[in-house]
Amino acid sequence: MVEKKETKQQGNEENKKVKSHSYSKENNKKAEGSHSYSKEDNKKQEGSHSKESSNKKIFIYRIVVSIIMIVSIILVYVLNNLGNSKEVGAMTNNISNETFENAILSTNSVDNNTISTQHVTSEESLRKLNDWRLILVNYENTMAEDYVPPLANIDSARQFDARAIDSLTQMILDMKAVGIKNIWAQSTYRSPEKQKHLIDESIQEYLADGKTEEEARALTLNGIEEPYKSEHNLGLAVDFNNVDNAFEKEPAFPWLVENAANYGFILRYPKDKENITQIKYEPWHWRYVGPEYAKEMKNLGLCLEEYIEYLKNN
Ligand SMILES: [Zn+2]
Repeated sequence: MVEKKETKQQGNEENKKVKSHSYSKENNKKAEGSHSYSKEDNKKQEGSHSKESSNKKIFIYRIVVSIIMIVSIILVYVLNNLGNSKEVGAMTNNISNETFENAILSTNSVDNNTISTQHVTSEESLRKLNDWRLILVNYENTMAEDYVPPLANIDSARQFDARAIDSLTQMILDMKAVGIKNIWAQSTYRSPEKQKHLIDESIQEYLADGKTEEEARALTLNGIEEPYKSEHNLGLAVDFNNVDNAFEKEPAFPWLVENAANYGFILRYPKDKENITQIKYEPWHWRYVGPEYAKEMKNLGLCLEEYIEYLKNN
């Protein structure tokens, strides 16, 4: 489009040049001060008149062509945008119709290709992507080594991000209030040093079991993330009760699936998202992202990795 504009401008300038040239011809004639127009002069004048009118035609023709081009470009742009927003609208409606349980328990996952549209990240999404509550820490996103969350104590042994601790304690209190007595936060914030210590400890146990160094390391890293690659280092993750799959069968689990988003928590490693999170299903591990994002993710049926991608494209 820019190129075309330039052509148009050049065209205008050329026309101006031609025009001023023909004017100067006329002026010259006047300046020559010929008393009477000879036949030859008339012919010349006629010639310059017809030249001028054909220049005018070319000029008008160029303007008309330029206008048609600009209008076409605008039309194409507007139609494209209309199409995209309709597509996204339809997609959002489809996804909101799915319940969170379905998103977690069924194998129907959201088609990633549908979400990847050609949108530019909006300012609103950029704001969200920079929110501390959405920090993504996973197998390919290591947290900044100098990131130290503001911490507050849950009890003498456990800490959580001070900005989210009230949501966690309130959620546990509300579960107890409806009769779910068997609920406690087993593992919350872990410093990267503690994380490293846990890994070393586990490797030692496997070595004692007769495994090779390589086997011991592989087996350990299958269950524990490396330092700076665990959400527990962020102070925003909580592991409930005995940190095992049996948690799924406890009354707390369906309650969390139904209500945790209202407190800002998401099931971080759902069963049907293993290929995206690269972490085996963990019913016990819940991550704080804030109610605004937790509810949106629940409605869209997206895990954190997918939600981050979704924001980048919207
Ligand atoms: Zn965990």
